[in-house]
Amino acid sequence: MNMPEKTIGFIGLGNMGAPMASNLSKNSHPLICYDTIDTKKKSPSNAIVADSIEQVAKSASIVFLCLPNGSVVLDVVDRILSVHDRCVEIVVDNTTAGVSEAKEAWERLNKENIKYADAPVSGGVSGAKAGTLAMMVAASQELYTEIEPLLFSMAKNARNVGDQPGQGMAMKLLNNFLSGMAMAASSEAVAFGVAQGLKPEKVIEMVNLSTGRNTTTEDKFPKRILTETFDSGFATNLMAKDLKLYVKSAKDSHAPSFLSEILLNGVWSKMLDKWPDSDFTKIYPFIKKYGK
Ligand code: NAD
Repeated sequence: MNMPEKTIGFIGLGNMGAPMASNLSKNSHPLICYDTIDTKKKSPSNAIVADSIEQVAKSASIVFLCLPNGSVVLDVVDRILSVHDRCVEIVVDNTTAGVSEAKEAWERLNKENIKYADAPVSGGVSGAKAGTLAMMVAASQELYTEIEPLLFSMAKNARNVGDQPGQGMAMKLLNNFLSGMAMAASSEAVAFGVAQGLKPEKVIEMVNLSTGRNTTTEDKFPKRILTETFDSGFATNLMAKDLKLYVKSAKDSHAPSFLSEILLNGVWSKMLDKWPDSDFTKIYPFIKKYGK
């Protein structure tokens, strides 16, 4: 990569951001990190610990964001723009922020000649730690080529999915609609098997040898649900947030939303209501308890 002098910024060091920043810190660029809580504890040991977003904006030419949602992203974008002697040339948003939020971020930054790529991720905390995330990047070919080496240090499966702002978010939201559906449908199916006297381990084993297999049956059930560890690191509130964004974007673009609305209102919003602080793998006990 031909830009050794550039400092990279990373804002938002949560379940995903901390391991992503850790992988980013292994390349040759200086890294400066910030989170509203415990920045030092969450930053890679070789990173500069910032005490504000403004400090990141004054030091870094490329800034990554991995924040809870789109409204926090827009606040952080405004804070970056409020810094007059900033260095920022590119913002890469790894948050699942939403389609209209990404377009808004692009517009605000573009007015000030800062490039923006929406680049949400899939693969969970384990993928973030291993550097094997999928990353759905919306950027011009030129911008994508410039940032790709940095993306690959966090996400082995980064792809440029389109050049319009928001297209990375759209890709991520449709993926999480499928993932949320697989979680709910697989949980209901296993509960049915158990009601028929089948062992849940046997149900999962047979489904994984048959056509109903999916990531929930191949990964979440054996590793996190049947073990009762419920430790994917992906919160129920994030799944409900992503589905809300999906349904809204589907309606905005006149795309079908028949199943996604049932999934949102009939399952994930209800679970968020009952068990607001849960990991999303708790869907199986939730469906067993409230799904009748
Ligand atoms: P998280 O809540 O663990 O992390 C968010 C971090 O942002 C926290 O450390 C918080 O303190 C920090 N933060 C909040 N406001 C801030 C601000 N103004 N300035 C600086 N830092 C701020 O969430 P997460 O699980 O890491 O998810 C982050 C994003 O990635 C979300 O949009 C989520 O939907 C998406 N995502 C999560 C997963 C997962 O498995 N957890 C997988 C794929 C995508």
